[in-house]
Amino acid sequence: MAIGVESGGRNTNLSRAFEIFQKAKGIKPPVILDFLQVLVEMEYCSAAMLQQVLDEQWVLSKKEELTIHPPILYNLPVARPSKIICIGKNYKAHAEEFGGGVPKEPMFFAKAPSSLIPSEADIVIPGWLKGGIDHEAELGVVIGKAAKDVPEATAIDHVAGYTIVNDVTARDIQQEDKSRGWPWFRCKSIDTFCPCGPFLVPADAVDDPHALDIRLTVNGEEKQAASTADMVFQIPTLIAYISKYITLQPGDIIATGTPAGVSPLTDGDIVEVTIAGLGTLKNRVTRSS
Ligand code: ZN
Repeated sequence: MAIGVESGGRNTNLSRAFEIFQKAKGIKPPVILDFLQVLVEMEYCSAAMLQQVLDEQWVLSKKEELTIHPPILYNLPVARPSKIICIGKNYKAHAEEFGGGVPKEPMFFAKAPSSLIPSEADIVIPGWLKGGIDHEAELGVVIGKAAKDVPEATAIDHVAGYTIVNDVTARDIQQEDKSRGWPWFRCKSIDTFCPCGPFLVPADAVDDPHALDIRLTVNGEEKQAASTADMVFQIPTLIAYISKYITLQPGDIIATGTPAGVSPLTDGDIVEVTIAGLGTLKNRVTRSS
């Protein structure tokens, strides 16, 4: 397995390129970089840093050898985050869809990291599940530097990059638990209910994370379409707020909330979330027996 980097229309084996780069620069002991979360934790997740590796003379001389050819299998942007924090009701139209309006301060809850799956993997509805499940297209923020009680003004410096999250929800279980005053954890954390990817786009390669078109289709039919400009609480506010309570660790994911238009998913559906500049997260829905 290797980390690939897409740059200038070419996919390059970054793990191997980084090995050559370190040799060229005399960096000892060399770091083995075959896991994207390691790159995040080492604070190497920046377009500028990656370009420096790709532009190194020895790396350039091995351009052909380092090219990754299709088909490409996508893995998770971060495979083992210490936590996935989701924001509820962060788009006005979606908050109205479920009643109750927009909260006065950010409302957050957790999703178990074991629910993560990459792009192209199947969302599996457990055979025993009677109620429906919904999709929720969301911009995912990946933390690069630990954040504890950080001010809004510098909060964005803690972001390594951006990705796409589909916050799949067992809606009937959620309603049932809400009515009992129970937490939302199980309806959000069922295995495979957190598709994420296909890429991790470094923060310095995204001009404005609050000006991205976000769109979700089911079997090609548009269900959700909005802009991240419509978020009620923006990313710095979310990071500052969450970090008052919980230290955000490198690799942690914040799913920033979903716009209006959530709808049910059933066995056989193809669900695709596209965010401008971040690619398309595509998953099929199946049901286990
Ligand atoms: Zn959500």
